[in-house]
Amino acid sequence: MRSPIRVAVIGGGCASVAAAFELSRPEHRGRFQVTVYQMGWRLGGKGASGRGRFDRIEEHGLHLWMGFYENAFRLLRECYGELRRDPAHRMSDWRDAFFPSNLNFAADLSPRSGWLRWSVLFPPAQGLPGDPVNAAADWSVAAYFVRTALLLRTVLRSLSMAAADRDETDAGAASAATTTESQIAGLLRYGKLATLTALLEGLRLLGLAFNQFSLFPEGLLLRLHSAIRKAVEKQIDRLVTDHDEARRIWEIADLLLAALRGAVRFRLATHPRGFDAINDYDCREWLRLNGASRRALNSAFVRALYDLAFAYEDGDVRRPRIAAGQALRGAFRAFFTYRGAFFWKMRAGMGDVVFAPFYQVLKQRGVRFKFFHRLRAVQTSGRRVGVKPNVSGLEFDVQARIRGGKEYQPLVDVRGLPCWPAQPLYEQIVSGATAEVRQRDFEAPWEPSRHPRRTLRVGRDFDFVVLGVGVGAVADVCRNIVRDDERWRVMVDKVKTVPTQAFQLWFDADGTSLGLRGAISNLSGFAEPFDTWADMSHLAGEESWPRPPQSIVYFCSVLPDRHGEGGRAGAKRRAAEVKRNAIRFLNRDLGRLWPGAADDAGRFRWEMLCALPGSKAADGVRRFDHQYWRANVAPSERYTLALPGTLRYRLSPLDTGYDNMTVAGDWTDCGFNEGCVEAAVMSGRLAAHALSGSPPLEDIVGYDHP
Ligand SMILES: Cc1cc2nc3c(=O)[nH]c(=O)nc-3n(C[C@H](O)[C@H](O)[C@H](O)COP(=O)(O)OP(=O)(O)OC[C@H]3O[C@@H](n4cnc5c(N)ncnc54)[C@H](O)[C@@H]3O)c2cc1C
Repeated sequence: MRSPIRVAVIGGGCASVAAAFELSRPEHRGRFQVTVYQMGWRLGGKGASGRGRFDRIEEHGLHLWMGFYENAFRLLRECYGELRRDPAHRMSDWRDAFFPSNLNFAADLSPRSGWLRWSVLFPPAQGLPGDPVNAAADWSVAAYFVRTALLLRTVLRSLSMAAADRDETDAGAASAATTTESQIAGLLRYGKLATLTALLEGLRLLGLAFNQFSLFPEGLLLRLHSAIRKAVEKQIDRLVTDHDEARRIWEIADLLLAALRGAVRFRLATHPRGFDAINDYDCREWLRLNGASRRALNSAFVRALYDLAFAYEDGDVRRPRIAAGQALRGAFRAFFTYRGAFFWKMRAGMGDVVFAPFYQVLKQRGVRFKFFHRLRAVQTSGRRVGVKPNVSGLEFDVQARIRGGKEYQPLVDVRGLPCWPAQPLYEQIVSGATAEVRQRDFEAPWEPSRHPRRTLRVGRDFDFVVLGVGVGAVADVCRNIVRDDERWRVMVDKVKTVPTQAFQLWFDADGTSLGLRGAISNLSGFAEPFDTWADMSHLAGEESWPRPPQSIVYFCSVLPDRHGEGGRAGAKRRAAEVKRNAIRFLNRDLGRLWPGAADDAGRFRWEMLCALPGSKAADGVRRFDHQYWRANVAPSERYTLALPGTLRYRLSPLDTGYDNMTVAGDWTDCGFNEGCVEAAVMSGRLAAHALSGSPPLEDIVGYDHP
């Protein structure tokens, strides 16, 4: 029997876990012996969470999964299937671990009334994410724009004036025409877009034209578009100053119209590069070029699009930037292809419901885990003309030794649910007590290591490498490669990251007491420094408070870069800055949307927050010390941006230029080039394909989408 190919997977984030999951499938019959090398004590990377005091869930930041995460849900569902938990277990099935979240809010800044919560209900969609993909599903650019035109019709129809303006005769006249082109010409010739019904017909025809885009002259489509736009302005403009709802509809209509015009002008439906053809533009810039108004570009919807992707260069909220093509691809996938629900929320920490089950299943399959292994350097050899170089060694800091030379057992039991602790299990570590007292940060590259280094050699210890560290860490751990290889050097230079900030509050008050007339809900697009939050009150029962909190809310946002600041002291300063930001935000901003959370002077009512039982009493603002906050500033923890003009520099897991190494991560060229769980999982699956030919590329949903 052939000896297995030894695969060293570096890192244990979504991408690495997906790669390990694919390579350890029973179908491979043990062809790959996979070992995961992970710094610190837990898997998860940017998605890691841990259980703190009273089993509090402490996350890196708010994490929601979206209903279009076909790859991520597919693997997760398989994982739960293989886990075979007792059906009576409270998290036996993936549907126990995730639940649909359809009601969301955007923070709408009304010119008349200031900040408003704008509720957006996404209707449940057929199927579930991860179900087999319907062979008839059309994910082409043209199909998206057909749906955009239809959506615009629906949006316009929803205006109350629709009822008052029925004129079936125009539509009838148009549909009597024989071809779409002559129908369009008819509408234009007779100026029949003057009524809403005719306007809707115009949009129907525009949608039809996208179906056979190459057959239509651009001039005709642009004329139709201009006529539609004029008609929309005429019909709606008068309403928007007095009605917030009409203004929102107008803003969406305005954006959809700009997208349609851009699609025609840039011939996206037939362009060989699809959406990627416009990735050198910033999304707002591209929409503006295609006629979007200032008001629409600053609408809640657009702000939320940037906020949810932390899309601010250097973390500077005055420099919002995201590649237009990827932003459109993401928005279309999110709105038009979600299954079940738009968002899916987790019933415990991401570590508990995602990474712990994967860890257990991978262990069952024979995957090995080496915790407390921090990669220092990838060593290379064989740089000769015409020969692909290879990785010759992997040099690790061994961050901790395990007592008795045993294997580290990373999980703790929280009422029957295996979870990751928020700190290492010091009792398993040699000199663990000292490490605990000194609060060593095992997840930081700057923390010195006190043990001899370990170097793995190709041929002796490993045959193939899956490099799954965050892109922020690549420049350091691959410094030889970055020095010698132009493609890697440019990639590291162009694919940028930003720090993020997050805090979590546990309330002794419910949504009604907070002045919300009901649930707290998820929201994005709000005032900086914390533009996004989510109601996580459902987690109260998963934690072990003597008196459960009535509400739990997670807040998250980008954090401005401070150049030249790193190291342990720098990280501490950034965490202190997050605390100051949070307190300022709570005192100054939150009351504008949560009136019950502010006192008469408009300042946050600190007494509404839970105090940690058994801790020193804390009144007033000091109650914040009993909550949780963090600054994600370590290189690998920084969020990967999709800046305009940079996506083409990403490396593909299928072609790294190295003979025995692939890459996996949300920073690679994987078909969905934006920092999210789905991109990371797609990349991990691609990395597995690079080595084993499996999964087949057509099985990686979205990889071949335009
Ligand atoms: C605050 C925040 C909120 C987010 N919210 C969402 C959300 O709601 N929905 C969503 O889909 N996505 C969200 N994302 C993005 C998502 O978390 C990432 O896209 C995804 O987790 C990236 O996975 P990855 O495997 O590519 O990288 P990572 O998760 O960064 O994994 C890298 C791994 O490498 C390890 N590592 C790094 N350096 C070394 C080293 N030297 N030696 C050994 N190991 C090393 C790390 O510890 C980690 O395990 C969010 C990200 C952040 C930061």
